[in-house]
Amino acid sequence: MENCDYKKAFHLRFGDRRLIPDLKELITKVLLPNGINMIILEIDKAFVFEKHPEIDGGPHALTADDAKDLSQFTKEKGMEIVPLFQCLGHQGWGGSRSALLTAYPEFDETPETPLNAEWPEIFCRSWCPQHPDVNKIVYELLDELIAAFSPTYFHIGMDEVYEIASDQCERCRGGNRAELFAKAVNDMYAHITEQRGLTMMMWADRLIDAKKFGYDNWEGDTFGTYEALDKIPRDIVLLDWHYDERENGYPTPYFFMEAGFSVMPACWFKLNVAKQLFAEAKAAAEELNQPELFFGKLITSWNGWNHEVFQEFIHMKEMSSIDKNSELGRLYEVIETIE
Ligand SMILES: [Zn+2]
Repeated sequence: MENCDYKKAFHLRFGDRRLIPDLKELITKVLLPNGINMIILEIDKAFVFEKHPEIDGGPHALTADDAKDLSQFTKEKGMEIVPLFQCLGHQGWGGSRSALLTAYPEFDETPETPLNAEWPEIFCRSWCPQHPDVNKIVYELLDELIAAFSPTYFHIGMDEVYEIASDQCERCRGGNRAELFAKAVNDMYAHITEQRGLTMMMWADRLIDAKKFGYDNWEGDTFGTYEALDKIPRDIVLLDWHYDERENGYPTPYFFMEAGFSVMPACWFKLNVAKQLFAEAKAAAEELNQPELFFGKLITSWNGWNHEVFQEFIHMKEMSSIDKNSELGRLYEVIETIE
């Protein structure tokens, strides 16, 4: 594999310490041989927060020792782990509450939404960016992850935030969505970058004017958060995800780079999309004469990773029984093919 000065990253959700041997096997047998030098580990709240036992990370949450072990394991191999902790949005699925909102229901932006509510009534809850106590608790949670992983980069999530400036929140009702979104980003930046010296990463979809670029309300914003782009620091790395074919290509890496941001475009399991998206993003940085703004290439995975799936994936090539045209088969092909 050719050495490159940009990152080739892989993302997965990971919240079960019993799967650490599988994850290590994935790293040594698939990711490293294919040049992956960064792994975005979406741990979110599945961690044993020692100073905050009220945050229930689940029965198999990772411990600080697990994190140190994983961090050392990867660093020795020239790979870095980027912990991902969902900030602002994605605080649970549907009406259910994340461990943070379960412990602190007063942080909930939509407290009147029933716990059993479903899409389309609600996609995911958010925390209230104006609650006076939320940042103090979140900073302490971030600090435990930072102490355990000793990372250089930290990913704050921030994708698909729909519950913002809710009529249910007495602090935010009638507020400006872009300003509230920017406040949440800047509050996290103040701690992660200004206080702890790490480079912050976030998903970029809420910063895209969906109408202008012809995206839907998942891939871009249709509610007014996109104007937050002018209100946040330029040294945040934006992860611009696009998973499907588009006739007119992918204009947003250029748009973000032109605004001064480093961009890591992100694909999923479609090889043709990955090739085109990455090529366009690289060309955009070259056209702007700032090749360093092309931060790297991110391959995301959105399947559940249990023991069987890890083993199927790790042994994809040697097992003829596996369907190479399945989502996992195609994901493997992307990892192998993208340089
Ligand atoms: Zn609020």
